[in-house]
Amino acid sequence: MQTDFDMVIIGGGAAGLTAAQYGARANLRTLIVEQMANGGQCLLIEGLENYPGFPEPLGGAEFTERFEAQARKFGAQFKIATVTAVEKVGNHFRIETSEGELTSLTVVMATGAQHRMLGVPGEERYGGKGVSYCATCDGPFFRNKTILVVGGGDAACDEATFLSKLTDKVIMVHRRDRFRAQKSLSERVLHNPNIEVRFNTVVNEITGEANAMGIERVTGVTLRDTQSGEAYQEPVDAVFVFIGSIPQTALIPEAPKDEAGYIITDINMQTDVPGLFAVGDVRATPFRQLVVAASDGAIAAHGASTYIDEMAGMAYEAQPV
Ligand code: NAP
Repeated sequence: MQTDFDMVIIGGGAAGLTAAQYGARANLRTLIVEQMANGGQCLLIEGLENYPGFPEPLGGAEFTERFEAQARKFGAQFKIATVTAVEKVGNHFRIETSEGELTSLTVVMATGAQHRMLGVPGEERYGGKGVSYCATCDGPFFRNKTILVVGGGDAACDEATFLSKLTDKVIMVHRRDRFRAQKSLSERVLHNPNIEVRFNTVVNEITGEANAMGIERVTGVTLRDTQSGEAYQEPVDAVFVFIGSIPQTALIPEAPKDEAGYIITDINMQTDVPGLFAVGDVRATPFRQLVVAASDGAIAAHGASTYIDEMAGMAYEAQPV
């Protein structure tokens, strides 16, 4: 059967955009389906400073534009829609979207991961009223205010550093006695005079009150020292939560996953379903970085191309040396 596309990529973050570029360049009829704006988590980066070849920090939005322009240049197509189902039918995939059905020989899951919530009282109530998961988006509202940052990984350290440029009153709490983050990032936090780090500390509750106009906002948190067990009030104006992420795998619930729920692939980024690939933050990998996501995308496009050649009986067979 003639399908609409050779490769449909679900998700327009760095991994998906790179898969699109490599796929289109390999002459695959390539489509990216993205439900919002392309870029994914990359859009949240204020100054990208560790992508090879870019020694000067670059904003995530500009970086995304370059990724997208390169994919378009080679002929990748883009569609704004929400994918609601993916099903393998015979030797092709049926992809249901909010804008109609598509068929493709291969599918690349580049759906990424969403921020994890703390799950404490007050978090939902004060979401957007002082509770945030994006420093670049919401940090400027809290210039010169007292900001609490929760978490101990790369994201928490990166974002606390960003926030410390807006205020000299950043308090960072982490549930353990040391950071999980890369040394370069955690050292930067520990030596930052604008950041006060409190290890072995968790958030019990986020509290707030309404102002004279009846508008609610965060006014404090209840923290607990996990070693002494002591709980105490801390007045803060904002709470920024960076405690990891949840992979977006709902479209392929049957795919094998690791203990944290990330999709397991082979070295070609292929899942246990032939022709179905997973790349970027949704995939089980020891190191989640933009450069890793881009690399995943390139490998998946190559894998998809090889898979299609094999189906057509046109695979390039290696000769014995
Ligand atoms: P992460 O590495 O999974 O770290 C999450 C942190 O949140 C951990 O310290 C964890 O504590 C803590 N945590 C988890 N659940 C919690 C809870 N319920 N209450 C309190 N604390 C909780 O996540 P991430 O920092 O978002 O990073 C995700 C990936 O993106 C990583 O692979 C990271 O390398 C990458 N990343 C890289 C950069 C960079 O290179 N500049 C920037 C951002 C993200 P425990 O330590 O106790 O588990």
